[in-house]
This record gives sequence, structure tokens and C-alpha cells, in this order.
Amino acid sequence: MDNPEVVVVGGGPAGLTAGIYSARAGHRTLVLEKYIIGGQISRTPEVENYPGFAEPVVAMELAQAMEAQARRAGTELEAGEVSRLSAAAGGLALETSLGRLQPSAVVIASGVESRELGVKGERELRGRGVSYCAICDGPLFRGKEVAVVGGGDSALDEALYLAGICSRVHIIHRRDEFRGAKVAQDRLHRLPNVRFWLSCIVTGISGSSRLESLEVTNKKDGSTTALPVSGLFVYVGSIPNTAWCQGTVDLDENGFVQTDGLLRTNAPGVFAAGDVRVTPLRQIATAVGDGALAGMSCHHFLLDR
Ligand code: NAP
Repeated sequence: MDNPEVVVVGGGPAGLTAGIYSARAGHRTLVLEKYIIGGQISRTPEVENYPGFAEPVVAMELAQAMEAQARRAGTELEAGEVSRLSAAAGGLALETSLGRLQPSAVVIASGVESRELGVKGERELRGRGVSYCAICDGPLFRGKEVAVVGGGDSALDEALYLAGICSRVHIIHRRDEFRGAKVAQDRLHRLPNVRFWLSCIVTGISGSSRLESLEVTNKKDGSTTALPVSGLFVYVGSIPNTAWCQGTVDLDENGFVQTDGLLRTNAPGVFAAGDVRVTPLRQIATAVGDGALAGMSCHHFLLDR
């Protein structure tokens, strides 16, 4: 699209919804996505807590429906990566893999990416047993023994998915309590092929050409166990994709975008929506709500100019 009025950076639920609202309000709207439309949900098997679906919905199908709806509303979607946002007196500018864009408004919906564990061997064996996406790589470990690290919703959901494919799933969590949903914890406790390693951390990741074994250390007594597994799935939280807008919009100490109640950033004409912003809850439902508000805030900003 030449000269879009609104550029939405990120094609997850927040970005697609912002695109729908902005396009329906009559603005030439471009959504740029660097990886895959749907964002984090395309890396999830099923979604159970998005309203409107009595039965669990296949996450990829939900993402595809959002994409189709955005296109139908008139939003243009393109594959592209933004390297820099600047806001000078002359207006907003985005340096992108498609060239320089100068929209009147920008919605930051670039989401988050997986945080690494930071243990030696992790990077060396990434893609060779170490993974951050069970839906992408889980089937490669069919009938094998794997471990999941983390105690949030992602770790629990992905452990449930892996338990249906793998011979055994070891869940390694640094505390005695999970922060993920109770319903998922209860389901995991009922499965015969799930083993819990609580108050434990991974202190070693080893293998010659592929992952072979983990060293698991019990934080309470300091004992270590060698755990032979073929796969390690890391779900220890996420870091925001905001390097490209750092210095132009205010971020918090963890790199998340700060907004006001109308999802405005400190830079006029720049809004933020979804997981990338400072928010107490990161769900598809909240991302979609953010997208709607950011799209309408953009619209009012453009009307008031
Ligand atoms: P999260 O909620 O931040 O959980 C990260 C987990 O990793 C925590 O249990 C944390 O332990 C652990 N952890 C962090 N650093 C670690 C380290 N260095 N070593 C070992 N463990 C470490 O992240 P998330 O599970 O990816 O979820 C992100 C957001 O998406 C959340 O708001 C979540 O609710 C949402 N989400 C929702 C669903 C759903 O509703 N079904 C699904 C996926 C994600 P501590 O608990 O000890 O801090």
C-alpha cells in the first residue's frame, strides 16, 4: 500500500483488531507482520478462554478468521519488519524492510518473544532439542521423553499439549506453586505421564549433536539429578519487541510500552495495544479489546488534527 494513513506494527490479535477498527473508520490502514499472522496464538494449540466459543477453538483457525475479517474490513496486510520509529516535527517515520513509511498514526502491536533460560548449552542446542514452541516442534518428539520449564499459563498449556504426544513430560518449576491456571494444573495432575519437579531449576543442558540430558537442581536441598530427555521446551516468560521504538516512546524498566487509558503513548499519533504494553493481563481477549480502543483512538486523533 502506498502512503498508508495508519500503520499497525504487528499482526497478532491486537494488531489485527486495531486494523479492523481503523479501516472501518475509513483510514487507509496497513498491518505489518514480520513473522506469522496471528502472533503468539499461532504458536498455541487450542484456546479455551476466548469468549464466543463454547468448545476449545484451534488457535490457528482463530488467527486465520481474524486475518480474513481484517482483510474484509479493508485492512492491507504485508510481510515486513520495522527497524525504527521516529517522531520529529515533520511527522512520524518508520524505517521498514519495505522502505520508509510516513503515516499519520502508528499502532505498536509488536507483541513479545520468548525469554531464554540463560543456561549454558541452551543456545548451542536450540533447534536441536531445545525449543520455545510446542505446537511447532512438539510432533518431532512423538513417543519421546521431554521437559517443560516454567510455571505460567504457557508452560502448563504446552505441557498438556505435549502430554498427548510424548511418552513422558517432566515439568520443572522453580517454586512449589504455579502461577498458571488451576484448571490446567488439575488436568496435568490427573495425567499418568506427567512428572513434576517443583522447587527445581535446570542448571545444565547437554548433548553432543542433539539434546541428550538436563541437570536438574533441587533448590531446597541442593541435590542434582541427570534427566535424560530428547526435548526441552522453555516457557519462562517473554520480552517485549520494542527495540525498534525505544527512545521514541516511553518504555518501563522491562521494555514494555507505557500508555494512558486511551492507549496513547507519549509520542503524539503513536498508540500501543496488546502484550507489548504495560498491562496487568495478557490474554487474547485483552489484546482484542486493546486493539479496538487503539484503532478508535487513532481515528479520533486523525479527526482532531
Ligand atoms: P509468565 O506468566 O510470566 O510465567 C513465566 C514463568 O516462568 C513463571 O512461572 C516464572 O516463575 C518462570 N520463570 C521466569 N524466569 C525463570 C527462570 N529464569 N528460570 C526458571 N523459571 C523462570 O509467562 P507465560 O506463561 O509465557 O505467560 C505470559 C502471559 O500470557 C501471562 O499473562 C499469561 O497469563 C498469558 N497466557 C495465557 C494463556 C491462557 O490464558 N491460556 C496461555 C498462555 C499465556 P515464577 O512463577 O516463580 O515467577
